[in-house]
Amino acid sequence: MAEEKCVFCQIIDGSLPTIKIYEDKTVLAILDINPASEGHVILMPRTHYETLDQIPDDVLVFLFKLAKLLSGIIKKVMKATGINIYACEGKSAGQRLPHFYINLIPSYDDNPVSAEWERKQVEPKKLEEIGNKIRDEAKKESIKLVTEETEKIKKKITKKIADESAKKQKIEKKKEDEEMRQMKSLIGRRIP
Ligand SMILES: [Zn+2]
Repeated sequence: MAEEKCVFCQIIDGSLPTIKIYEDKTVLAILDINPASEGHVILMPRTHYETLDQIPDDVLVFLFKLAKLLSGIIKKVMKATGINIYACEGKSAGQRLPHFYINLIPSYDDNPVSAEWERKQVEPKKLEEIGNKIRDEAKKESIKLVTEETEKIKKKITKKIADESAKKQKIEKKKEDEEMRQMKSLIGRRIP
């Protein structure tokens, strides 16, 4: 027997009913049926990705552009005074379904919603240790990222230069041909 599809995938393929807010070929936004507040929207990629790092960059960019757009619309339409843009990854973080999603939870002055957590005390030395660990890894990984991006940009520029030069050569060849044609016709006329 085939493994049962996740609830969001069933909503996406239409086998479970939902109230759709927005959809296109990349993303789907639905109304949460057990909302944290009125106007709580769930935004997800149509493809089943469990974690943020599995999502391709172009999908991710589009997903967050949509989060920006829908946040503004929800605030405006619902007359909310704030909005939580909230994603969880992993059970321990509160991810309820293994399909990455972003919660857009409006907040109201008379019905505030905020992601509160216990603010813990950590020894300064420990904080420094944690800072170093994350900073070192981020530095390593960001260098990789920057190198990749730089390579992409370099390739793009090289291609653009090659294209431009091909275009220029074409124009010059045309000009030369035209000059040659004119010269030939001029010579032709002078010859008795
Ligand atoms: Zn899914």
